[in-house]
Parts: sequence; structure tokens; C-alpha cells
Amino acid sequence: MASVMLKRAEEVLNEQYGYASFRDGQKQVIDQVLRGMDTLAVMPTGGGKSLCYQIPAVLLEGITLVISPLISLMKDQVDAVNELGVAATFINSSLTRAEENERLQQVASGEVKLLYVAPERLREPRFVQAVFSQPLSLIAIDEAHCMSQWGHDFRPSYLTMADWIHSLEQKPPVLALTATATPEVAADISERFQIEKPQQMITGFARNNLAFRVVKGVRKKEYVARYVQARSGLPGIVYASTRKETEAVFHHLKEKGISVELYHGGLSEEERRDSQEAFIYDRCDVMVATNAFGMGINKANVRYVIHANMPGTVEAYYQEAGRAGRDGEMSECVLLFSAQDVRTQRFFIEQSEGTEQRQSHDYEKLQQINAYCHTDRCLEEFVLHYFGEQQTEECGRCGNCLREGERVDRTKDAQMVLSCIVRMREHFGKTMVAQVLTGSKNQKIQQFQLDKLPTYGLMKERSAKDVQAFIDFLLAELYTGLTNTSYPTLELLPRGAAVLKGEEKVLQYVEAVPEQEEQDDIFEALRARRKDLAGEQGLPPYMVFSDKTLREMSRIIPLNKEEFAMISGVGAKKQETYGEALLDVLRSFADRKSMDLSVEQPLQKQSHTAKRGSHLETISFFKEGMSVEKIAHARQLSEQTIVKHLLKGEEEEGDLELKELVDEDKRQQIEEVAKEVGTEFLRPIKEKLPDTISYAEISFTLGR
Ligand code: ADP
Repeated sequence: MASVMLKRAEEVLNEQYGYASFRDGQKQVIDQVLRGMDTLAVMPTGGGKSLCYQIPAVLLEGITLVISPLISLMKDQVDAVNELGVAATFINSSLTRAEENERLQQVASGEVKLLYVAPERLREPRFVQAVFSQPLSLIAIDEAHCMSQWGHDFRPSYLTMADWIHSLEQKPPVLALTATATPEVAADISERFQIEKPQQMITGFARNNLAFRVVKGVRKKEYVARYVQARSGLPGIVYASTRKETEAVFHHLKEKGISVELYHGGLSEEERRDSQEAFIYDRCDVMVATNAFGMGINKANVRYVIHANMPGTVEAYYQEAGRAGRDGEMSECVLLFSAQDVRTQRFFIEQSEGTEQRQSHDYEKLQQINAYCHTDRCLEEFVLHYFGEQQTEECGRCGNCLREGERVDRTKDAQMVLSCIVRMREHFGKTMVAQVLTGSKNQKIQQFQLDKLPTYGLMKERSAKDVQAFIDFLLAELYTGLTNTSYPTLELLPRGAAVLKGEEKVLQYVEAVPEQEEQDDIFEALRARRKDLAGEQGLPPYMVFSDKTLREMSRIIPLNKEEFAMISGVGAKKQETYGEALLDVLRSFADRKSMDLSVEQPLQKQSHTAKRGSHLETISFFKEGMSVEKIAHARQLSEQTIVKHLLKGEEEEGDLELKELVDEDKRQQIEEVAKEVGTEFLRPIKEKLPDTISYAEISFTLGR
């Protein structure tokens, strides 16, 4: 029977949601739930957890209860499912008594398939009575990590709820879902519901559409402004550690004419609500916030998350950064590191009222995020290891994998700074050292006779702020350190001493300021129409169609109903509600539609492929004759990743003949240089070759 049900689940996925196939894990979870088995699903944010209970809710007789701690999200979630044509509602404290009564009646009369509530609600007899007048088909526990004492977000009401479920005479199947379960937490949840190993679906933490990057030694406010300006029109979040800092960044961006909102705990509830709404409804581009912002935010089209300060733990970082790209579109997560951030976090720990044991635990966590900021390894791999995943591979997308910035030799500058620190007898802080180097006429400098030092004015052509940012870089890279005293002063560390002796070089990746992305005018036109449509319905734009769906429309340019229905994310109800309006827009671009659809067709209704099998999809495109560039564009991956996929395919199957793609003449040049400088790293090879030879050509020639 279950296989018939599963087939029907696939039909709902195709017709109602407009998606071609289930993602990693979804099918198994839905199958188990439909068979009446208790299940634990650990999937990353944006992995598609909600479908795992929504589709069974549609298929099973009776009501599915969704228990969630996030009252502020319920309306959003319910609106989104209603948009798909599923009868859903929520009951929580935001309703008036009359509204509540009306909804209870709807529930009792069987009009509702999916009911969202907070755990506390289960104690109310009126509520329980209404729910039990219908068969209870499933209980989905969202954010299930709240049940565990080891989770970072423990809620006692979740334990009461677990007892309540156990006390039911006819317990329906339970589906516990979370994105943030460490093995400890997963074990805790499983134990509470006796969910055996085979019933646990843990798909891992990797987020294939996020590109991570750590940037050091830049002037943060300026970097953020340039970054945001280069992404004008795209929604993004900038996090900072303190209210003061968020305000500074906010004002800086505002002065530059950027459309920006502010959110922190010091604002009134109304101010917070207004700025949150402006962001969710795409009325502003950027949200600058402390970590108070985000827990209840479901906005799917956040294209980047910048951390202007390092957070205190990898968990917090991954959770906050993970708010980018819930819709599966490529998105960026940038962490701007400075040594000051470590001190701020230390200060937070010192001020916290935790036990000594707790504090030392927090210091350890701080050490880990600090290590993340300094690793040369793939950043995603680092995080996945941190969460206990064993089988990982380099992501090919993060700053460390790409190293796209140019590496500049700054040994001389470093020597000037370090020798100045020594000449100043390690008695002064960053500001004073920068002032001496830039030749400031500050009174204090004259008073201490620092203007007599041979290093005075050595860097006078730079601004003191630039020099300070460079000192930040030297601090971040442990060439210099700050003393642990009430007035911290700069001191030379062993690595710095080696630089002064000429034994070590200082190389800095100068972060390329992100380029203005090429505007896709079809996408922009669709986006504008989406905003109007959403406005008419009183919905956030991403709920009408995701960015991912609009991108696919702009690529394929469907011109009639049939073609439109083929786009991933277009289900029957959305086609009916919004189809004509968007087709109108698309038809005005009819002349851009490629005559040769053979390339586009295989992409339609493409399934999301698991990372491990992802290279197979690349290879199948390649075998159809698509170029690396075209595949990268179609799959929304970097060319470097596509090259990696192809090399892997060549290794496994040996029939791709990648070498043949490179001109004979270029191949010879590449092989000669490789002989000279070795093949361990590609960069030195690339640097010795003319610019016309690409990394892809080098990789294909050398097979690595
Ligand atoms: P989560 O709750 O795990 O954070 P969601 O359930 O919100 O994730 O899903 C994230 C996005 O992925 C949504 O836009 C959703 O519609 C989309 N999605 C879910 N499952 C699929 C699928 N099988 N194919 C394509 N898109 C999907």
C-alpha cells in the first residue's frame, strides 16, 4: 500500500508544488511517515523539511499537527502552504478570541489538513477537543532540537509535549525535524520517541549553494558598503556583534544612499517590526542587525550574509550565515575578521554569569571559530568536520578553494610596522603605532618624543586608518599580538620576529571587491512583476515564486502555459493565479528565446542532485556537448567546480578525453611550465603562462 501512497506523494510534488523529484532524504522520510513509522529527519536549512510533513498531511486522512516554537513564523508558513492550495491554519496567541473560535470550528468540522501550534497549546482542553473530533494523522515536531537539554535552544515546553504525545491512547506517527542536531542532540530526540537508527534520516549539513569566505585586514564599514553597492537590489543581511556597531554600519550605508534597515534589541517593538517587514517584503535591500534578528525569519531569497564581526561559536555562525540562500540559489557568506572580534567575544564570556565550567566550554568554542577564520582548508569542509561529518570533500566554492583574490607580497610593509612596534618598546597600542608610521603631529607623539624614532613617517603616504587595517591583518595572522593587560599594547610574536629577520614572507590575499554582477534584465522584469503581484495579495514576494524559479524562467523564457508549467516551482494553483501575469512579461522577451531548445530541455524540472552524485549530472551535460562555461551557467556552479566534476568523471570512467579540449600548442606550453615549476599547485603554473590559457585548460592537460 505504501508504494501506492508514495506514488501519490510524487504526484502531489509534481502537480501541487511543481517540483520534478524528491531531494535527498525527502522520499525516505515521507515513505516512513506514510507507513506510520516514527521518524527523525535532520536536514540542513533549505533542505526541504517542510515538504516531509506537508505532503503526508495532504494524503493522510485527518489532521496533521505541526508543533513549532516560532509563533512569529506560523503565519508565514501557513500563507506559503495556502498558496499551494493546501488547507492550513494556525492557532496561537496572536489571534483574537473570535478568530480562535472560528479556527477551532474549522478544525472540528474537518476543513483543515494542516494545523500549526506552539507546544503550550496542547494543554488546553478546548483545543484538544477540537483536534480530536478528527482523526490525528501525524504530529510533526519542527525545531526538534528544542527538546534536548544539549541543544542550544532548549524549551521545557517541548518535554511536556513529548509526555503529552506518549499519553495519547492512539498515538499517531511522530516526525521530528531539525537542522541543527549534533550527534548528542539527535540521540536525545531519538531516545525520547524510541526512534531506532534505521528510522533516522540524517542527510548532513552541507549547503551546496553557499559560498563561504573569510576576509581579514580590511576597513570593515568601507568593505561592507562596496560589497553591498555591488549587489544593489539583492537582499542581504549584515550582522554585527553589538548594537553600537550595527548603528555605525547602518549609518555608514545610509549615508551612501543604500536602502537599509536596522534591527537590534534596543529598538522598540514597533521599530523592529517595521524594519523586519520592510526587509521581508523586499522594500529594502539590506538589514543591519545584531543576532537578535533572524530566529523567526523565513525569507528565502537572502543572497548574502556578511558578518562584520566574528560570532562566538561555529554553531552561531553557521546558523546565522545559513539564513542565506534558503531557496537554493547561489548565495554568499562573508566573515570579516579582526583580532578585536576575539577580544569582544572574550569580554562577552567574562561578563556572562555561567559557571567556570561553562565559561571554559565557551572559550573552547571561541577557539574553534577563531580556527575557522585562520584555516587554509576548505571552509565548508572545516564546518562539516566540526559537526562531526566524516566523509567530506572540498566544496570548490569557498574563498579558500578559489583563492580568487590576488596574493600580494607585503613583507616590506610588515617589516616597517613590526620594527616600529619594537622601536616603541611594545608600550603602545594600534592607534599610536599607526600614527607614528604615518607621521602624525599628535601632541602625545611629541610628548613621548616618538617623532624622533627612525620609523616615524615611514608610511606617511598612507592613511592612519589603512595602516590600522594592515595591523589588524598582522594581528589576525599572529605576526603581532596584544598584551593581556588593561591597556593592551602591541607586542612582537615569534612569527613577526622571523619576518624582521627576513626568514619569513608576509603574503596577503587582497580581496577583490566583488564585481557588479551582470544584470539579468528578464529576471529583473519578472522580479518587479512578482513584487506587484505579491503586494496585491499581501504576501512577501518570495512566497509568490522563489528567486530560483524566476531565474529558471528568465533562462528558458516560457511563452505559453505548457512551457510555463514545466518550470520548477510552478504548481497548478500558482500557474492559475500568477501564470498569465508573468507570461505577459516573458512574452515581451520572446525574441531572446533560444531557437535551439536541445540545451535547455534536459534542465527543465531538474532534480536537486545529492552532492556526491553531482558530478554525474555535470558529466551527462558534458556528454551532450555542452561547454564548461555553459554547464556552469546552467547548473549555477562555478566553472572550477565543473572542471573538478569532469576530472572526477575522467578518473572514474576514463572516456571523457578532456585533454583533447585543449589546443596542441597550449598543451605544450602548459607541460613545459609544469616540468619547470612542478604540478603540486596550479597557481604558479598559471602565473608563468599567458593570460589566454585558463585554469580549466591547465587542469585538463595535467589531469588534476
Ligand atoms: P527547510 O524547512 O528544510 O529549511 P524548506 O522546506 O523551506 O526547507 O524548503 C526550502 C526550499 O526548497 C523551498 O523553496 C521549497 O519549496 C524548496 N524545495 C523543497 N523540496 C524541493 C524539491 N524536492 N525540489 C525542488 N525544490 C524543493
